[in-house]
Amino acid sequence: MNFLSFVGNDEVKKRLGDYFINGRLPHFIILQGEEGTGKRTLGKLIASAAVCRSDAFSAPCGKCPACIRAKAGTHPDIKTVTGSGASGMISTESIKNLIEDAYLRPEESEFSVYLLFAGNIMSEATQNKLLKIIEEPPPGVMFILCIKSAESLLPTVRSRAGIFTLKAPSKEEAAGFLKAEYPECDESVLMDAIESFSGNIGKIKAFIEDKGKEGASSPALEAAVKITALLTKSDEHSLLKVFHPFIKDKQRLNLLINNLSEIFRDASACKFGSDKLISVDRDGARKLCQTLTARQLMLLPEICRKYSELLSKNANQALLVTAFCSELRKAAGK
Ligand SMILES: [Zn+2]
Repeated sequence: MNFLSFVGNDEVKKRLGDYFINGRLPHFIILQGEEGTGKRTLGKLIASAAVCRSDAFSAPCGKCPACIRAKAGTHPDIKTVTGSGASGMISTESIKNLIEDAYLRPEESEFSVYLLFAGNIMSEATQNKLLKIIEEPPPGVMFILCIKSAESLLPTVRSRAGIFTLKAPSKEEAAGFLKAEYPECDESVLMDAIESFSGNIGKIKAFIEDKGKEGASSPALEAAVKITALLTKSDEHSLLKVFHPFIKDKQRLNLLINNLSEIFRDASACKFGSDKLISVDRDGARKLCQTLTARQLMLLPEICRKYSELLSKNANQALLVTAFCSELRKAAGK
Protein backbone atom coordinates (compact mmCIF):
# COMPACT_ATOMS: atom_id res chain seq x y z
CA MET A 1 0.00 0.00 0.00
CA ASN A 2 1.22 3.46 -0.90
CA PHE A 3 0.78 6.02 1.86
CA LEU A 4 1.74 8.94 -0.40
CA SER A 5 2.72 11.87 1.78
CA PHE A 6 0.98 10.69 4.96
CA VAL A 7 3.57 11.60 7.52
CA GLY A 8 4.81 9.68 10.60
CA ASN A 9 2.84 6.83 12.22
CA ASP A 10 5.13 4.18 10.77
CA GLU A 11 3.76 1.38 12.91
CA VAL A 12 0.18 2.05 11.80
CA LYS A 13 1.28 2.22 8.17
CA LYS A 14 3.20 -1.04 8.47
CA ARG A 15 0.22 -2.87 9.99
CA LEU A 16 -2.25 -1.47 7.48
CA GLY A 17 0.12 -2.14 4.58
CA ASP A 18 0.62 -5.77 5.62
CA TYR A 19 -3.12 -6.36 5.96
CA PHE A 20 -3.80 -4.71 2.62
CA ILE A 21 -1.17 -6.58 0.63
CA ASN A 22 -2.37 -9.90 2.07
CA GLY A 23 -5.99 -9.02 1.27
CA ARG A 24 -6.82 -9.14 4.98
CA LEU A 25 -7.80 -5.57 5.69
CA PRO A 26 -10.46 -5.66 8.48
CA HIS A 27 -13.95 -4.85 7.22
CA PHE A 28 -14.35 -2.51 10.20
CA ILE A 29 -11.49 -0.14 10.95
CA ILE A 30 -11.36 2.43 13.74
CA LEU A 31 -8.86 5.26 13.37
CA GLN A 32 -8.51 7.00 16.72
CA GLY A 33 -6.42 9.99 17.74
CA GLU A 34 -6.45 13.57 18.88
CA GLU A 35 -7.81 16.27 16.63
CA GLY A 36 -5.28 17.08 13.92
CA THR A 37 -3.51 13.69 13.85
CA GLY A 38 -4.75 12.78 10.35
CA LYS A 39 -7.63 10.34 10.93
CA ARG A 40 -9.68 11.65 8.00
CA THR A 41 -6.68 11.92 5.68
CA LEU A 42 -5.68 8.32 6.39
CA GLY A 43 -9.31 7.13 6.19
CA LYS A 44 -9.63 8.62 2.70
CA LEU A 45 -6.31 7.13 1.72
CA ILE A 46 -7.42 3.62 2.74
CA ALA A 47 -10.70 4.13 0.88
CA SER A 48 -8.79 5.19 -2.26
CA ALA A 49 -6.52 2.17 -1.95
CA ALA A 50 -9.57 -0.11 -1.74
CA VAL A 51 -10.99 1.17 -5.04
CA CYS A 52 -7.69 1.85 -6.86
CA ARG A 53 -7.07 -0.19 -10.03
CA SER A 54 -3.33 -0.55 -9.50
CA ASP A 55 -1.64 -3.43 -7.70
CA ALA A 56 -1.76 -3.72 -3.91
CA PHE A 57 1.77 -2.34 -3.50
CA SER A 58 1.19 0.91 -5.34
CA ALA A 59 -2.46 1.53 -4.35
CA PRO A 60 -3.64 4.22 -4.09
CA CYS A 61 -1.64 5.17 -7.19
CA GLY A 62 -3.20 8.63 -7.35
CA LYS A 63 -3.32 8.38 -11.15
CA CYS A 64 -5.95 5.86 -12.21
CA PRO A 65 -9.54 7.04 -12.87
CA ALA A 66 -10.68 5.50 -9.56
CA CYS A 67 -8.03 7.39 -7.57
CA ILE A 68 -8.81 10.65 -9.35
CA ARG A 69 -12.50 10.32 -8.56
CA ALA A 70 -11.75 9.27 -4.98
CA LYS A 71 -9.61 12.37 -4.54
CA ALA A 72 -12.33 14.59 -5.98
CA GLY A 73 -14.86 12.98 -3.62
CA THR A 74 -16.96 11.69 -6.52
CA HIS A 75 -16.21 7.94 -6.49
CA PRO A 76 -19.58 6.14 -6.37
CA ASP A 77 -18.27 3.39 -4.05
CA ILE A 78 -16.83 5.68 -1.39
CA LYS A 79 -19.47 7.22 0.81
CA THR A 80 -18.90 9.61 3.64
CA VAL A 81 -21.07 10.03 6.70
CA THR A 82 -20.16 13.13 8.66
CA GLY A 83 -21.49 13.96 12.09
CA SER A 84 -23.04 17.32 12.75
CA GLY A 85 -22.87 19.87 15.53
CA ALA A 86 -19.78 20.87 17.44
CA SER A 87 -19.19 17.37 18.82
CA GLY A 88 -19.53 15.86 15.34
CA MET A 89 -22.14 13.31 16.40
CA ILE A 90 -23.45 10.98 13.64
CA SER A 91 -27.23 10.60 13.69
CA THR A 92 -28.99 7.24 14.01
CA GLU A 93 -30.89 8.16 10.84
CA SER A 94 -27.61 8.38 8.85
CA ILE A 95 -26.64 4.87 9.99
CA LYS A 96 -30.08 3.58 9.03
CA ASN A 97 -29.60 4.97 5.51
CA LEU A 98 -26.09 3.57 5.39
CA ILE A 99 -27.34 0.07 6.22
CA GLU A 100 -29.88 0.15 3.39
CA ASP A 101 -27.20 1.38 1.03
CA ALA A 102 -24.63 -1.20 2.13
CA TYR A 103 -26.75 -4.08 0.77
CA LEU A 104 -26.51 -2.70 -2.75
CA ARG A 105 -23.57 -3.96 -4.80
CA PRO A 106 -20.65 -1.60 -5.38
CA GLU A 107 -20.96 0.19 -8.70
CA GLU A 108 -17.43 0.09 -10.04
CA SER A 109 -14.97 -1.55 -7.72
CA GLU A 110 -14.84 -4.65 -5.55
CA PHE A 111 -15.52 -2.68 -2.40
CA SER A 112 -18.05 -0.26 -1.01
CA VAL A 113 -16.27 1.89 1.54
CA TYR A 114 -18.08 3.92 4.17
CA LEU A 115 -16.11 6.64 5.87
CA LEU A 116 -17.69 7.60 9.18
CA PHE A 117 -16.36 10.88 10.55
CA ALA A 118 -17.69 10.78 14.08
CA GLY A 119 -15.86 13.61 15.85
CA ASN A 120 -15.67 13.01 19.59
CA ILE A 121 -18.61 10.81 20.49
CA MET A 122 -21.30 8.47 19.17
CA SER A 123 -24.60 7.91 20.91
CA GLU A 124 -25.36 4.43 22.21
CA ALA A 125 -28.40 4.15 19.95
CA THR A 126 -26.28 4.94 16.88
CA GLN A 127 -23.62 2.46 17.93
CA ASN A 128 -26.19 -0.28 18.42
CA LYS A 129 -27.58 0.40 14.96
CA LEU A 130 -24.07 0.26 13.49
CA LEU A 131 -23.37 -2.94 15.38
CA LYS A 132 -26.09 -4.70 13.38
CA ILE A 133 -24.22 -4.26 10.14
CA ILE A 134 -20.69 -4.73 11.41
CA GLU A 135 -21.66 -8.02 13.03
CA GLU A 136 -22.80 -9.45 9.71
CA PRO A 137 -21.57 -7.21 6.95
CA PRO A 138 -22.54 -7.81 3.33
CA PRO A 139 -19.53 -9.02 1.28
CA GLY A 140 -17.19 -6.35 -0.04
CA VAL A 141 -18.30 -3.68 2.41
CA MET A 142 -15.79 -1.79 4.50
CA PHE A 143 -16.36 0.72 7.29
CA ILE A 144 -13.75 3.18 8.46
CA LEU A 145 -14.74 5.01 11.64
CA CYS A 146 -12.71 8.08 12.61
CA ILE A 147 -13.19 9.07 16.24
CA LYS A 148 -11.15 10.81 18.91
CA SER A 149 -11.02 7.78 21.22
CA ALA A 150 -12.23 4.20 20.71
CA GLU A 151 -12.52 3.99 24.51
CA SER A 152 -15.66 6.13 24.22
CA LEU A 153 -17.35 3.35 22.21
CA LEU A 154 -19.26 0.30 23.45
CA PRO A 155 -17.00 -2.72 24.05
CA THR A 156 -19.15 -4.71 21.61
CA VAL A 157 -18.35 -2.20 18.85
CA ARG A 158 -14.67 -1.96 19.74
CA SER A 159 -14.18 -5.70 19.84
CA ARG A 160 -15.21 -6.06 16.19
CA ALA A 161 -12.79 -3.49 14.86
CA GLY A 162 -9.19 -3.28 13.80
CA ILE A 163 -8.12 -0.29 15.86
CA PHE A 164 -5.29 2.00 14.76
CA THR A 165 -4.04 4.88 16.90
CA LEU A 166 -2.70 7.96 15.18
CA LYS A 167 -0.20 10.29 16.81
CA ALA A 168 1.53 13.50 15.83
CA PRO A 169 4.72 12.71 13.90
CA SER A 170 8.16 13.59 15.23
CA LYS A 171 9.15 17.23 14.92
CA GLU A 172 11.67 16.35 12.19
CA GLU A 173 9.05 14.49 10.17
CA ALA A 174 6.57 17.34 10.65
CA ALA A 175 9.19 19.84 9.49
CA GLY A 176 9.93 17.86 6.31
CA PHE A 177 6.26 17.56 5.48
CA LEU A 178 5.32 21.16 6.23
CA LYS A 179 8.26 22.67 4.35
CA ALA A 180 7.08 20.81 1.24
CA GLU A 181 3.45 21.76 1.89
CA TYR A 182 4.10 25.46 2.56
CA PRO A 183 7.22 26.38 0.58
CA GLU A 184 6.30 30.07 0.85
CA CYS A 185 6.07 30.03 4.63
CA ASP A 186 8.92 31.51 6.65
CA GLU A 187 11.00 28.68 8.13
CA SER A 188 11.23 30.20 11.62
CA VAL A 189 7.42 30.55 11.73
CA LEU A 190 7.09 26.89 10.73
CA MET A 191 9.59 25.72 13.33
CA ASP A 192 7.89 27.79 16.05
CA ALA A 193 4.50 26.34 15.10
CA ILE A 194 5.93 22.80 15.17
CA GLU A 195 7.29 23.42 18.68
CA SER A 196 4.08 25.05 19.92
CA PHE A 197 1.78 22.34 18.63
CA SER A 198 4.19 19.46 19.29
CA GLY A 199 4.20 18.41 15.64
CA ASN A 200 0.41 18.07 15.36
CA ILE A 201 0.01 18.59 11.60
CA GLY A 202 -3.72 19.43 11.65
CA LYS A 203 -3.27 22.09 14.31
CA ILE A 204 -0.21 23.55 12.60
CA LYS A 205 -2.06 23.72 9.27
CA ALA A 206 -5.00 25.48 10.96
CA PHE A 207 -2.54 27.89 12.57
CA ILE A 208 -0.68 28.66 9.33
CA GLU A 209 -3.86 28.99 7.32
CA ASP A 210 -5.34 31.26 10.01
CA LYS A 211 -2.19 33.38 9.77
CA GLY A 212 -2.51 33.50 5.99
CA LYS A 213 -6.14 34.60 6.20
CA GLU A 214 -5.37 37.77 8.06
CA GLY A 215 -1.93 38.76 6.78
CA ALA A 216 1.27 38.59 8.73
CA SER A 217 -0.02 37.84 12.18
CA SER A 218 -2.50 35.34 13.51
CA PRO A 219 -5.55 36.81 15.26
CA ALA A 220 -5.77 33.79 17.59
CA LEU A 221 -2.15 34.30 18.51
CA GLU A 222 -2.46 38.04 19.03
CA ALA A 223 -5.56 37.53 21.15
CA ALA A 224 -3.77 34.93 23.29
CA VAL A 225 -0.96 37.41 23.95
CA LYS A 226 -3.47 40.13 24.93
CA ILE A 227 -5.43 37.79 27.19
CA THR A 228 -2.26 36.66 28.95
CA ALA A 229 -1.39 40.27 29.67
CA LEU A 230 -4.92 41.13 30.83
CA LEU A 231 -5.35 38.13 33.06
CA THR A 232 -3.70 39.66 36.07
CA LYS A 233 -5.42 43.05 35.60
CA SER A 234 -8.74 43.82 37.22
CA ASP A 235 -10.45 44.79 33.96
CA GLU A 236 -12.84 41.98 33.08
CA HIS A 237 -14.56 43.96 30.34
CA SER A 238 -11.37 44.32 28.25
CA LEU A 239 -10.70 40.61 28.62
CA LEU A 240 -14.16 39.71 27.29
CA LYS A 241 -13.70 42.19 24.44
CA VAL A 242 -10.62 40.30 23.21
CA PHE A 243 -12.60 37.05 23.18
CA HIS A 244 -15.57 38.61 21.41
CA PRO A 245 -14.53 38.12 17.73
CA PHE A 246 -13.93 34.40 18.42
CA ILE A 247 -17.33 33.56 19.88
CA LYS A 248 -18.96 32.69 16.55
CA ASP A 249 -16.03 30.77 15.07
CA LYS A 250 -15.54 27.45 16.82
CA GLN A 251 -12.31 26.54 15.05
CA ARG A 252 -10.62 29.85 15.86
CA LEU A 253 -11.93 29.82 19.43
CA ASN A 254 -10.41 26.38 19.83
CA LEU A 255 -7.14 27.64 18.40
CA LEU A 256 -7.19 30.56 20.85
CA ILE A 257 -7.79 28.26 23.84
CA ASN A 258 -4.97 26.06 22.54
CA ASN A 259 -2.57 28.99 22.30
CA LEU A 260 -3.50 30.09 25.82
CA SER A 261 -2.99 26.61 27.18
CA GLU A 262 0.54 26.52 25.71
CA ILE A 263 1.39 29.91 27.25
CA PHE A 264 0.05 28.82 30.65
CA ARG A 265 2.03 25.60 30.47
CA ASP A 266 5.14 27.66 29.74
CA ALA A 267 4.41 29.88 32.76
CA SER A 268 4.20 26.77 34.96
CA ALA A 269 7.39 25.33 33.47
CA CYS A 270 9.10 28.67 34.15
CA LYS A 271 7.99 28.51 37.80
CA PHE A 272 9.63 25.12 38.14
CA GLY A 273 12.90 26.48 36.81
CA SER A 274 12.68 25.30 33.21
CA ASP A 275 13.82 27.76 30.56
CA LYS A 276 12.73 25.52 27.72
CA LEU A 277 9.62 27.49 26.80
CA ILE A 278 7.76 26.60 23.64
CA SER A 279 4.66 28.79 23.42
CA VAL A 280 3.99 31.69 21.09
CA ASP A 281 4.27 34.22 23.95
CA ARG A 282 7.30 33.36 26.05
CA ASP A 283 7.58 36.90 27.47
CA GLY A 284 3.95 36.82 28.57
CA ALA A 285 4.54 33.40 30.17
CA ARG A 286 7.55 34.74 32.09
CA LYS A 287 5.56 37.74 33.36
CA LEU A 288 2.71 35.48 34.42
CA CYS A 289 5.23 33.28 36.22
CA GLN A 290 6.45 36.26 38.23
CA THR A 291 2.94 37.42 39.17
CA LEU A 292 1.14 34.17 40.05
CA THR A 293 1.87 31.38 42.51
CA ALA A 294 2.75 27.85 41.35
CA ARG A 295 -0.65 26.66 42.50
CA GLN A 296 -2.46 29.33 40.48
CA LEU A 297 -0.34 28.61 37.41
CA MET A 298 -1.09 24.92 37.52
CA LEU A 299 -4.82 25.58 37.45
CA LEU A 300 -4.75 27.56 34.21
CA PRO A 301 -3.93 24.80 31.67
CA GLU A 302 -6.51 22.59 33.43
CA ILE A 303 -9.16 25.24 32.84
CA CYS A 304 -8.17 25.44 29.16
CA ARG A 305 -8.47 21.67 28.83
CA LYS A 306 -11.91 21.73 30.43
CA TYR A 307 -13.23 24.46 28.12
CA SER A 308 -11.68 22.96 25.02
CA GLU A 309 -13.58 19.76 25.89
CA LEU A 310 -16.83 21.68 26.48
CA LEU A 311 -16.37 23.44 23.15
CA SER A 312 -16.05 20.11 21.39
CA LYS A 313 -19.27 18.98 23.07
CA ASN A 314 -21.35 21.67 21.42
CA ALA A 315 -21.67 24.04 24.39
CA ASN A 316 -23.16 27.48 23.78
CA GLN A 317 -20.07 29.47 22.76
CA ALA A 318 -21.10 32.85 24.19
CA LEU A 319 -21.80 31.33 27.61
CA LEU A 320 -18.68 29.23 27.38
CA VAL A 321 -16.47 32.27 26.78
CA THR A 322 -18.00 34.16 29.74
CA ALA A 323 -17.55 31.19 32.07
CA PHE A 324 -14.03 30.55 30.74
CA CYS A 325 -13.00 34.18 31.43
CA SER A 326 -14.49 34.09 34.88
CA GLU A 327 -12.70 30.85 35.81
CA LEU A 328 -9.37 32.07 34.46
CA ARG A 329 -9.70 35.30 36.45
CA LYS A 330 -10.69 33.42 39.58
CA ALA A 331 -7.66 31.15 39.23
CA ALA A 332 -5.50 34.24 38.80
CA GLY A 333 -6.88 35.63 42.05
CA LYS A 334 -9.22 38.21 40.49
ZN1 LIG B 1 -5.23 4.29 -8.40
